[in-house]
Amino acid sequence: MRYEKPVINKLQSGLMNKFGSSPLYARRVRKEIDGVTIDDLVRQFGSPLYVFSEQSLRSRYKNLYNLFSNRYPNVTFGWSYKTNYLQAVCAIMHQEGAIAEVVSEMEYDKARKLGIDGKDIIFNGPHKPMHALEKAAKEEAMINIDHMDEIYDLEKVAQKLNKKIRVGMRLNMDTGIHPQWSRFGLNLESGQAMDAVKRLATGGKLILNGLHCHIGTYILEPDAYAVEVAKMVEFGYQVEDNFGLKMEYIDIGGGMPSRSKLKGSYLPPDVGVPPLESYAEKITEALYTHLRPGDFPRLIMENGRALVDESGYLISTLFAAKRLPDGRKAYITDAGVNTLFTSFWYKFNVEIDREAAGLNEPSIIYGPLCMNIDVIDEGSMLPSLERGTRLIFSPIGAYNNTQWMQFIEYRPNIVLISPEGKVDVIREAEDLKHIEEKEKLPKRLNLHD
Ligand SMILES: *Cc1c(COP(=O)(O)O)cnc(C)c1O
Repeated sequence: MRYEKPVINKLQSGLMNKFGSSPLYARRVRKEIDGVTIDDLVRQFGSPLYVFSEQSLRSRYKNLYNLFSNRYPNVTFGWSYKTNYLQAVCAIMHQEGAIAEVVSEMEYDKARKLGIDGKDIIFNGPHKPMHALEKAAKEEAMINIDHMDEIYDLEKVAQKLNKKIRVGMRLNMDTGIHPQWSRFGLNLESGQAMDAVKRLATGGKLILNGLHCHIGTYILEPDAYAVEVAKMVEFGYQVEDNFGLKMEYIDIGGGMPSRSKLKGSYLPPDVGVPPLESYAEKITEALYTHLRPGDFPRLIMENGRALVDESGYLISTLFAAKRLPDGRKAYITDAGVNTLFTSFWYKFNVEIDREAAGLNEPSIIYGPLCMNIDVIDEGSMLPSLERGTRLIFSPIGAYNNTQWMQFIEYRPNIVLISPEGKVDVIREAEDLKHIEEKEKLPKRLNLHD
């Protein structure tokens, strides 16, 4: 028998009784993902390992799309590249019917390379250099203007190409979500957006045909979207009535939540995250309330997180255990904040791949980095885990494979499990050659001769 330190758990007297299994004994064991065992996955592809479920990506897309298209006749999803721009993930979204939503020239180029036509690319973002604007305008992308300087730049592009350019305008507004995202687009309430429309119409080189707004991410309040829609539709009609410009699309951005848990929020996501259906209900209801009869502009949505987050897992391996001086149990795993960048804000589900004996105790999970900030989880109730136990973190499909850091460690393999259970590597683990590929060592610094 291995010695186990006795555990003292704080009595939670005076708190509300909670229904559910005792936190002292509850285990969350996961032995497989889509029918492929954790053991097989790690044996073939190593640890840590990102795993995406194609089945889940496709069914999430279909579910969310149907929620809207069953209620409104003209719906388009623009897949938010920055949420996860792995080619395989983007290709699945495009096969399901999404156009591309990009926020930089790099993302624009990625979408084009995957085979998406310019006219099926929504080009957002505050930084669109001249040559990127020119390329996008030539290829008739849907450019959403972020600021006045972009209007001037686009007018120059129109002059150079000798054609009028159709553009959308990004708005920011108060929808009741605070802090308000006011740094992107032109402000509605201050009159700045209408001034920009005036300027654009006077210039005569750009034709405004759409409106865009993205109110934030992980928005837990469906009513905020109803306010957004009402304000956008109303603004669109003001533009139409005053300048004769017809809004062909209303793009309400992304931001719908996944069932992840924001740190510091009290309720578990099952209770705290509204069902996506209530978003569809509020948004389409607001459209029907505010649109003029017979007017069905294209409703564009740019959801990233809600589509991809829950389709991704990260498998890691317990490398060592420690007892901290304050008595807490600590584990070191091979996956850190370099691979799970969003752990700074979100608390993941932690599952283990095997049964374990003993009482749970609050545990802290560190990554492999020699950096104090490398903490993946604090306070999860875990039993005493043996070395080599696999920890499975989820949901991790949103933003981790774009915001990850090549820092201290190699980034690992990413695999995709097909609906038939076939496992494909969709991004290979890094090696030194890949990491140093773009470096140049001046000859005089060569230590070999
Ligand atoms: C990031 C972003 C999105 C996607 O946001 P999610 O929260 O992942 O749904 C959509 N549109 C724009 C303009 C964005 O910047």
